[in-house]
Amino acid sequence: MPPDTALPPIRRQEIAPRSGVAFELAKGDRLTIIDPKGEQVADLLAFSVADRDEVISSGRTLDYASRIYLTTGDPIYSNRSNVLLRIVEDTVGRHDFLLTPCSADTFRIIYGDTHPHHGCFGNLAAALAPYGIEPDRIPVAFNVFMNVVVNGETGELKVEPPLSRAGDHVTFEAETDLIIGLTACSALQSNNNAFKPIHYEIRPADAAPQSP
Ligand SMILES: [Zn+2]
Repeated sequence: MPPDTALPPIRRQEIAPRSGVAFELAKGDRLTIIDPKGEQVADLLAFSVADRDEVISSGRTLDYASRIYLTTGDPIYSNRSNVLLRIVEDTVGRHDFLLTPCSADTFRIIYGDTHPHHGCFGNLAAALAPYGIEPDRIPVAFNVFMNVVVNGETGELKVEPPLSRAGDHVTFEAETDLIIGLTACSALQSNNNAFKPIHYEIRPADAAPQSP
């Protein structure tokens, strides 16, 4: 095995609190999303580079999994039932794929804010605009580390503090070339009332296998 110094350096990037980014991820690349301080959600979107009308689908993914909590080994399907991402490592095991990205409307309707923040939705829309992706194309995001508890009898949803602790992470592998949108979530309730950064790393497909 070649020494680690022969590999390209994997640079850790930071997403500032209440902000978002977009970038490309090539087929076979691995994206690791890290919660550096604990109890912080990151909204994740993935669109196909080949056709931006193809995007991750909560409905199809949860339907095919027959579960609402996804973890290591689970595929994330598109609106055309292709696998866009696969979860290959997960140190938490509790994420949400039911709720829409927080937005100015979320803060107006649920929190009663008169001057609402634009939320993950606004951050995703701004970050994805240079890729020609319009706000109306933004679906339910995969909400990494978001802890939504469901009452099995009534179906009532409760947003609880994330179970993630400092350093917890989830790694996704791209099954095709993707445009990724990623945020450090802006909703008080989702993040136990504190806005923190999110870190991420991209490991190219041609890099040697890593230890976590
Ligand atoms: Zn959010």
